[in-house]
Amino acid sequence: MSEFFVDEQGFYGNFGGAYVPEILYKCVHDLQQAYLPIIESDDFKREYHALLKDYVGRPSPLYEAKRLSARYGCKIYLKREDLNHTGAHKINNTIGQILLAKKMGKTRIIAETGAGQHGVATATVCALMGMQCEVFMGKTDVERQHTNVERMRMLGAQVHPVTTGNMTLSDACSEAIRDWCCHPQDTYYLVGSTMGPHPYPDIVARMQSVISEEIKWQLNEKIGRDYPDYLIACIGGGSNAAGTIYHYIDDLRVRIVLAEAGGHGIDTDYTAATIHCGSEGILHGARTLVMQTDEGQIKEAFTISAGLDYPGIGPMHANMAVKKRSKVLAVNDDEAIYAGYELTRLEGIIPAIESAHALAALNKLSFNSDDVVVLTVSGRGDKDVQTYLNNKSLAKEYGNF
Ligand SMILES: *Cc1c(COP(=O)(O)O)cnc(C)c1O
Repeated sequence: MSEFFVDEQGFYGNFGGAYVPEILYKCVHDLQQAYLPIIESDDFKREYHALLKDYVGRPSPLYEAKRLSARYGCKIYLKREDLNHTGAHKINNTIGQILLAKKMGKTRIIAETGAGQHGVATATVCALMGMQCEVFMGKTDVERQHTNVERMRMLGAQVHPVTTGNMTLSDACSEAIRDWCCHPQDTYYLVGSTMGPHPYPDIVARMQSVISEEIKWQLNEKIGRDYPDYLIACIGGGSNAAGTIYHYIDDLRVRIVLAEAGGHGIDTDYTAATIHCGSEGILHGARTLVMQTDEGQIKEAFTISAGLDYPGIGPMHANMAVKKRSKVLAVNDDEAIYAGYELTRLEGIIPAIESAHALAALNKLSFNSDDVVVLTVSGRGDKDVQTYLNNKSLAKEYGNF
């Protein structure tokens, strides 16, 4: 495996590692020892793939978007993670980790959530497995993402509003780590993206790698070769991006383009574009790029998209970006809104506002007519309809409202 995958010490180049408090050392170490033998066992693979098929609804389609392709002068295929159970890619990861937790003999699951999407995906698999579920969520997010809070409660999870800091995702992560310190024996911390201390970034990337595993055979079926010229995904913590690129990371024929959330713009204070604006630091157990003040205080992230609202980035992506294996573009709120309307009107697919950031990257690239582009639609936009409507002036040419 190449310099882009995790090494024995849990690093991706300069990034990653496991910077955890003493009290969690044993927990994290146990997980480091346990995860590979479990997820590589036939028993695990059988259960995981059976659930992905019959419960999640995989494989997710690879759909040739003809009208969108005509608009951008290339051949665009959409990887439809929006069609998964619960409406996004996050369930791929929670299914895998709940099986891992069970096999490790854990009985209590904790998770952090921002927009509530990971909280819902975790509460869903806990209901499925009959496990106790507690979700930490910033109080600000509890208020602005009320429907997801209700979904989690209906699924049987206990939602803890977090009132420290900005009361958003970053604070929810810190609180989940604090809870884990108090219950290291029976509790499994189910992390929602390719972030956190080693081995979480590797666990989550492997659980999402089913996306590129499918892209390979689906492309082969459709065009007779198993790789595209471009892979495009949005990037918050980096899990749908990691899944989209996983089996192509060492294939240099494939250009990797990732879209992070520019918010109002990378030259303003209202941004979540960590790769553009961050500097090296330690956040939630990993060395990575972090948006911070000169004194090392974590800055709050701003974007219209709750799922991309994180002041850090997975260490795998920090490494790939600084080594220029991936090209990272910052997409601003208005560009994402526009791209979301465009996909809706050209293809009849309302994308999650997060995924709309990936779609907006199309406008920033120039293609040859025979280029094959695979773009991951990480989630569906039902949750974002109000946001699209409130900002419809940004997409005037589509607006006969
Ligand atoms: C959470 C979320 C994201 C961002 O998370 P990643 O770990 O970067 O994939 C993107 N899209 C959707 C639909 C989400 O729910």
